[in-house]
Amino acid sequence: MRLTERHSRIAGAKAPAHKPKAPAHETAPYRPGRLKARACGAVAAVAAGIFAAWVSSIGAQQIPAPVELDIVPVRSNVFMLVGSGGNTTIHIGDDGVMVVDTQFANISDRLLAAIRKLSDQPIRYVVNTHLHGDHIGGNEAIAKAGRFRAGGNVVGDIGAAATDTARIFAHENALTRMVKATGENAVAQAAWPTETFFGRRKDMLFNGEAVQFVHMPKAHTDGDIVVFFRRSDVIATGDLFTTVMYPFIDRANGGTINGYVDALNGILDITVASNVNEGGTMVIPGHGRLCDEQDVIEYRDMVTIVRDRIREYVKRGMTLDQVKAARPTLDFDPRYGTDTGFWTTAQFIEAIYNDMRQEAGTAPPAGAPR
Ligand SMILES: [Zn+2]
Repeated sequence: MRLTERHSRIAGAKAPAHKPKAPAHETAPYRPGRLKARACGAVAAVAAGIFAAWVSSIGAQQIPAPVELDIVPVRSNVFMLVGSGGNTTIHIGDDGVMVVDTQFANISDRLLAAIRKLSDQPIRYVVNTHLHGDHIGGNEAIAKAGRFRAGGNVVGDIGAAATDTARIFAHENALTRMVKATGENAVAQAAWPTETFFGRRKDMLFNGEAVQFVHMPKAHTDGDIVVFFRRSDVIATGDLFTTVMYPFIDRANGGTINGYVDALNGILDITVASNVNEGGTMVIPGHGRLCDEQDVIEYRDMVTIVRDRIREYVKRGMTLDQVKAARPTLDFDPRYGTDTGFWTTAQFIEAIYNDMRQEAGTAPPAGAPR
């Protein structure tokens, strides 16, 4: 989908205060060597640089300097904020503001300023699609800038604590891993989710709109959710879908390639195309440009094809080195491949290889040489 189409789709939207033309992330120069993205994803070049700075653990030295945030109107009351870290989705209305993912902590001031350009209503909910630091870094600051509604006995029992911050919402598995994380992975308690759910789905009515949180198990991690704004017809996927790189299968946090393919198919179960596969449900990826169903289809096909090739190689008894030599990602590498950064093409292949060996029952015991 082209940018011009995206911006022409916002009749009735509250105009963002910034100039809507040529946001910086759309015009930034391509960064060779960091990510080979196609030109239409110029946003991807910057996002990839930021994304490459992220690892599942966010050491201070890896956090990129704050950048100017771009406000991308998606639907009348839904906006995508592109800055440092994962994309943020904002939902505004009479109830207040819902903030899906909070990027890195050092950009919280700018994130708040951008939110205030869109709405002066209180921030009620911070939602985390998963636990990675580039999606939860601003949790504490954004939540503290908000407030929640409570009344009656609740306020009587626990006073202002019930109302003086926004709720932080996530899947139970994300909270569990945040609480257990130590060292450079540690997450401050003030950033932990205050409201979680387990099971497949949670629904909420917010700003007069049904909002559905759908857990996609064992995919990018084991605590990923997508957020579907049903009437607006917008889905925020977190890192279950990006336009900038091969899927990061965070096996240390419960991710699997089969779960990732299932998640992409789960997203496609929700999305509906409008006309000749353009438009319809808008998809806000974890990183990269605004998308629609067709973008997810292409990505799903790519991931499935690579998975199935490696599955076949494993069935033939090939070693990891032999699989890498066979170049199972060759035709997709010009767009997604990279030999640098925290998630290289080789790591992507190895993660799938290990999952496929487990699936085939040929994985070595833990600790044994492969
Ligand atoms: Zn992530």
